[in-house]
Amino acid sequence: MKKRIILLAVLIMTLHFYVVHSQNRTELKLPDIAGYKTLKCDFHMHTVFSDGQVWPSVRADEAWRLGLDAIAITDHIEYIPLSEDIKIRYNRSYEIAKKRGDQLNLIVIPGAEITRDMPPGHINAIFLKDADKLKLDSWNDAIKEAKAQGAFIFYNHPGWKYQQPDGIPRWYPEHEEMYKNGMLNGVEVVNMGNYYPLVQKWYKEKKITLMSNSDVHEPAGTGYETYKQERKSFTIVFAKERTLEAIRDALDNQRTVAYWNNHLAGDAKYLYDIFINSLNYDKAPIELKGKETKYIQIKNNSDISYELTVVKIPENIEVPEKITLEAGKTTLFSVRSKVEDIDQAKEITASYVIENLYSEPGKGMPVDLKFNVKFLSKKKN
Ligand SMILES: [Zn+2]
Ligand SMILES: [Zn+2]
Repeated sequence: MKKRIILLAVLIMTLHFYVVHSQNRTELKLPDIAGYKTLKCDFHMHTVFSDGQVWPSVRADEAWRLGLDAIAITDHIEYIPLSEDIKIRYNRSYEIAKKRGDQLNLIVIPGAEITRDMPPGHINAIFLKDADKLKLDSWNDAIKEAKAQGAFIFYNHPGWKYQQPDGIPRWYPEHEEMYKNGMLNGVEVVNMGNYYPLVQKWYKEKKITLMSNSDVHEPAGTGYETYKQERKSFTIVFAKERTLEAIRDALDNQRTVAYWNNHLAGDAKYLYDIFINSLNYDKAPIELKGKETKYIQIKNNSDISYELTVVKIPENIEVPEKITLEAGKTTLFSVRSKVEDIDQAKEITASYVIENLYSEPGKGMPVDLKFNVKFLSKKKN
């Protein structure tokens, strides 16, 4: 009897141990597009090796749970409040996170944040070879060193109110100089869920990569209200494969889109491909007898809810003025004929704007929905 009780106690303890240590990964569902894999990456975060509140391996676990494919650890070079407590070596946080990332099949990229007053403000360098060598007096020399190491360099939070009290991002001569010399390859259009529409203009004017990053300092999940918001900022990367090299290739070729809080910002061609490849619906012609209403059932397989507003109503047809294609759900899209006595087969175009997909600074993306209608006269039939 005693033996049984002991066995039972051991079993309960084992189960308890198992439950405590199991983790779940939840990925934000998005379709692969144009022959590329759609990867979710966060290229900006902190650990106790600068002013973050967590040990580097914890960042890898958090990222895995949040369904990310890759992260870059980017501790500050010049701001290390915990240097009394932790022996600072600039490559160390990456090494620790990388070891845990390897166990989780999570790609971990070495990086650092060159932390200066504006201009040039805070600049991240990722794909570094040796972060220790960035500890230099002049920011210019630090950027040059990062470039010499083959880093991908980007301008962080250009509208951060601490450095830009009016919240307006500015492209200073210092940035222009870096950019001209191939030392500024990207810019955060979103940081910590804050979107800077102006930055999207820079993307249009220059060949520069758009990024969206968490810049997380606290443990993930404590700074945000809900689980959904936890995934609030990451960069969607269209990579040839799920490797470090392929992510770098995508960044070098501007194949990214910013994601935050049910929004996307970036090139219309990528936004459109994501949108259209998220949907499934029957494309067979819709027969409308007289002023009949029918429904197209649109299934949205992605985890983004698309908010549509009509801009041009097609002739002889009534379609919804506003409709949300809810994430992971099927929505009824109504089509009503406004005419009684026509016999005609026709391709109809309904023009909408997707309010939460920004192909232009702060502006929703236009999209044409096409469907085939067969009007049948009520009199004849
Ligand atoms: Zn910063
Ligand atoms: Zn930062």
